[in-house]
Amino acid sequence: MPTYVFRCGRGCPDFTEQHSMATAPADTPCPSCSGQARRRIGAPALGAGNSSGMRVQDATRATADRPDVVSSLPASRRRAPVTTNPLHRKLPRP
Ligand SMILES: [Zn+2]
Repeated sequence: MPTYVFRCGRGCPDFTEQHSMATAPADTPCPSCSGQARRRIGAPALGAGNSSGMRVQDATRATADRPDVVSSLPASRRRAPVTTNPLHRKLPRP
């Protein structure tokens, strides 16, 4: 659920409440003076937090914006033989 910031009209400090987006009220009672506090419109808290989930999400998003630069083709390697038994050389090949 998103966090909404509310500001009271009587000079009380801002406070936050969590509501679902469908039921977010425009006004809510102030916890300090029980007056009406209006919901503020502010910047979303994107990128906040230092959890491993946020780091993975940031790294995934960075690959779309800043992909790794490749300066040369990867070195080709010969395929190793599957078997070393000489009798297997007579078998039909695909
Ligand atoms: Zn208040």
